[in-house]
Amino acid sequence: MDNIPITDNHIHVDPFNGEGPLKVAQKFARSGGKRMIIPNKPSWTFGEPFNFEKAMEIVLKYVKEINDNSEIQAYAVVGLHPAELSRLVDSGKNLETAGDMIKAGLDYAQKLVMEDKAVAIGEIGRPHYEVSEEEWNLQNEIMFYAMQLASEAGCAVQLHTETSKEEQFKEFSQMANNAGLKEYKVVKHFSGPYTDPKENYGLTPSLISTRDVVSEGIKKSNYFLMETDYLDDLSRPGAVLGPKTVPRRTIEFINKGLISKEDAFIIHSDNIKKVYGIE
Ligand SMILES: [Zn+2]
Repeated sequence: MDNIPITDNHIHVDPFNGEGPLKVAQKFARSGGKRMIIPNKPSWTFGEPFNFEKAMEIVLKYVKEINDNSEIQAYAVVGLHPAELSRLVDSGKNLETAGDMIKAGLDYAQKLVMEDKAVAIGEIGRPHYEVSEEEWNLQNEIMFYAMQLASEAGCAVQLHTETSKEEQFKEFSQMANNAGLKEYKVVKHFSGPYTDPKENYGLTPSLISTRDVVSEGIKKSNYFLMETDYLDDLSRPGAVLGPKTVPRRTIEFINKGLISKEDAFIIHSDNIKKVYGIE
């Protein structure tokens, strides 16, 4: 079991609203985890709405804190959640100005990736809630823009979107194609068990690691990542899976014979390497 670099592909840390980087990393380590891929939280979570550069800078700091003080290897993912655009619009900005601000923020995310400070751009995408048609179109334009930036930088994107099935996977894969980004470099965060290439159109599904989703997913293919989307927000306990879930689930499934050690190794090592280029 020890040689499997168990990785949570989407886990947040938040010292303002939760326990913060070190405590979360220690819990993850104690349950058998080895690597955490950490997207920054939105700007309002630290009380400075639209301070996008700071939102990205602080996650770099948390990652360093974890790498310097624990046995966990942490990696940052930087970008702007689609709700940042919605909030800009709600604050009275017109769509054009709001869109330009988001694109400038994404340029900064690309810069951090190119400086090897982060491994991917995300979470980017479009809202899981209802918005105006104009905003929806702009969200799509921005998602495409982020894919183009990722293509230039040679990195992956982590997508936050509405609940997605084959139809959306197909749409995102066409978008990636048009942006010059390889389909597997598009990671669908919070994915259901769409592990068959006929369902995911070559995108990389990052499975929300409930028992049901992982056991359904592994029946079809071993090409997926595992995540919790842990928020580290004490005001929202149980909103998502806890920080120990990915290691515990992986070990439990191996012990029960629901997943082979070989497949677990592929999921946590080969697949992660393919998407992010990290060993
Ligand atoms: Zn998230």
